[in-house]
Amino acid sequence: MTVADHFSEVKTRIRAACREGGRSPDGIDLMAVSKQQADEKIDAALALGHRCFGENRVQEAKQRWESRRALYRDLRLHMIGSLQTNKVREAVALFDCIESVDRPALVKELSREMTRQGRPLPCLVQVNTGDEPQKGGVALADLTALLSVCRAEGLKVEGLMCIPPPEEPAGLHFSLLRKLALAHGLKTLSMGMSHDLREAVIAGATRVRIGSALFGERKNPIS
Ligand SMILES: *Cc1c(COP(=O)(O)O)cnc(C)c1O
Repeated sequence: MTVADHFSEVKTRIRAACREGGRSPDGIDLMAVSKQQADEKIDAALALGHRCFGENRVQEAKQRWESRRALYRDLRLHMIGSLQTNKVREAVALFDCIESVDRPALVKELSREMTRQGRPLPCLVQVNTGDEPQKGGVALADLTALLSVCRAEGLKVEGLMCIPPPEEPAGLHFSLLRKLALAHGLKTLSMGMSHDLREAVIAGATRVRIGSALFGERKNPIS
């Protein structure tokens, strides 16, 4: 199957889940997660007209996207991996959206850098809905306080993102994320990956992050 076939298959899955959930596919943004995928697959997606991509490492993303940025002005690059404060400068320069905001020190550094570069990027707060110790994202108990820090620092938080624990029913985590977003008046819900796309769409995802279902297995599945 070609990359084009995979795109149409994923779009079919999104439409089917929308029918099931009684919602319109227009409300769903498809992010193609390009991390650790071969350049020719990414170029095939670009040739199809796809413009929204996700990466989880700043260095890898720079290598791939710095040259392509100039060619595709309407590109939308999302940072979806844990972000160290010493990488914030490069991240703000490269990405169009930061989806992995998860701690006050990062909020402060992002805010400082966005001001300095004159790039007030939209952000999402990543929530560790399963309270897993090894996983990125703010703990449930600390979400409200972190959102206050974001407001105080002038960060443009548009919504929430989560990655459910692999061994638990994803739908429960997605519903929880939706409730949290509603409670805080946030509109964007970035949730759903290749294996739990259906559950995410039914629970109200506004953006799904799809890697392997579009591009196949990753070269070095380190994360
Ligand atoms: C890798 C990754 C994805 C894509 O995962 P697939 O299972 O390949 O669809 C989505 N979101 C995040 C945060 C990721 O790191």
